[in-house]
Amino acid sequence: MKDIFEILKQEILFPLNVKGNIVSGIVKSYLSNHAPFFVTVMVTHRCNLSCRICPYKGNDFPMNRNFQAYCSSNMHDEIDASSWFRVIDNLKKNGIRLVVFTGGEPLLKEDVFQIASYARDSGLFTILSTNGTLIDDSNARLVSSNFDSTTISFYGMDETHDFHTSEGAFEKASKAALSLSKTGHSAGAAYILTNRNIKEFEKFSVHGREKGISYIRFHPVHYDKELIPSREEYQEFYNRFMLLKKQNPSFFVDHAFFIESFQKRLCEHVCPSLKMQISVSPDGRLLSCCTYPVELGNLLTQDLGEALKNADPDLSECEGCCLNTQQYFDLINNPLVIFQHYLKEEFRTEP
Ligand code: SF4
Ligand code: SF4
Repeated sequence: MKDIFEILKQEILFPLNVKGNIVSGIVKSYLSNHAPFFVTVMVTHRCNLSCRICPYKGNDFPMNRNFQAYCSSNMHDEIDASSWFRVIDNLKKNGIRLVVFTGGEPLLKEDVFQIASYARDSGLFTILSTNGTLIDDSNARLVSSNFDSTTISFYGMDETHDFHTSEGAFEKASKAALSLSKTGHSAGAAYILTNRNIKEFEKFSVHGREKGISYIRFHPVHYDKELIPSREEYQEFYNRFMLLKKQNPSFFVDHAFFIESFQKRLCEHVCPSLKMQISVSPDGRLLSCCTYPVELGNLLTQDLGEALKNADPDLSECEGCCLNTQQYFDLINNPLVIFQHYLKEEFRTEP
């Protein structure tokens, strides 16, 4: 039987370029301390794009209404690098090992490299989650030397991507992938599935590999009901995904159970907030997650562990996210379920 740390390293963390004792740190913290698996730090809410599905735009349904309410308070306040260092110390002390830098567009934060570098030097694994439009040959090395891994969001090919984001964004994001790969950096694609792009993922996968993308992960769209694929579309996607994953498992890194859960998401509601992830706002507030943010405290003035002990956020109106699946709930509450899922895949026999 495979060792669980080995499985997590090879199947989940290796594609993100997580190495050596950092792997043990992340996994052991998660399994033994019950520290959340990862923290998304929103270093800024500013952005250079205007995406159709952006939560800041405020379509009229509860997910967005909550986000808008959150944004209306101190939306533009941002703490400086030295305050971020204190937040990072707080995260580290409480067992966090994996930090995702996001926004807005995180590269608009002037001192983001300084903050990432501090986190990395503190032993945290740092991932940059970006729209890719601000990376080119001139700063790719700066990105690769301050982040362990980068994920660029994609929404299809060419004009399909631009339909979801902004004109010209596809070309820039594709060039960013190429610039990063030339530095030897691990850059992956986060492909957000909508009913407009779900049939394009194979074409994009070929394009992504040509641009040096080293893996692709899929996420269902959250914020725009008109763009949510139907169950039939998800089923068809799942079938195609499984075929491609068999041919190239190191590129299509998502597990079958995760992809399969996209259909169930439409009727189930189970939330991994606080256990799987927490989030930090640009002004240092602790949030339940970055998708349906409810304020839980302030990491400049409160210890993370203490703040989480007393946390009881009302998330009843959240309509769900890609982490919102029965499988992930199992995974969070009982790490042994990880075994079951992996072993099922490992020993699955074809009919
Ligand atoms: S890149 Fe992100 S923050 Fe910027 S507009 Fe698009 S969805 Fe919104
Ligand atoms: S299901 Fe939980 S983690 Fe997901 S968006 Fe809702 S509150 Fe956040």
